[in-house]
Amino acid sequence: MSDCLFCKIAAGEIPADIVYEDDQMVVFMDIAPKAEVHLLAIPRSHIESLDDLEESHDTLMAYMMRKLSELAKDAGLDTGFRTIINTGPGGGQVVFHLHIHLLGGSNLPGFQ
Ligand code: 5GP
Ligand code: ZN
Repeated sequence: MSDCLFCKIAAGEIPADIVYEDDQMVVFMDIAPKAEVHLLAIPRSHIESLDDLEESHDTLMAYMMRKLSELAKDAGLDTGFRTIINTGPGGGQVVFHLHIHLLGGSNLPGFQ
């Protein structure tokens, strides 16, 4: 999608601190980190949100899920990490290109 911020990052049209990329996904540092490590993992193809997934995306999504552990280890998160996917305005989604937040580092609070 031509006016999508994360599509532009994936295409290299807008700069980002990219930590991993391949033909299916791109991973970069969040511009306003909410934890010591805060990465965003996106599919290269434009999918707006979890609400827009189709059966044809199953392999891609499973691949991205499997990659998260490897990305966390590469970022030094040896003891664990947190993932968040905000979906829709009601879920706090601001950028409408599906992304997985990968957070970690010291003092991540648990849910009370
Ligand atoms: P959402 O609320 O949609 O789940 O999260 C969007 C995330 O994108 C936020 O954490 C925000 O800091 C991040 N973000 C917004 N604009 C940019 C940008 O231009 N570059 C990068 N690297 N991250 C961005
Ligand atoms: Zn997009």
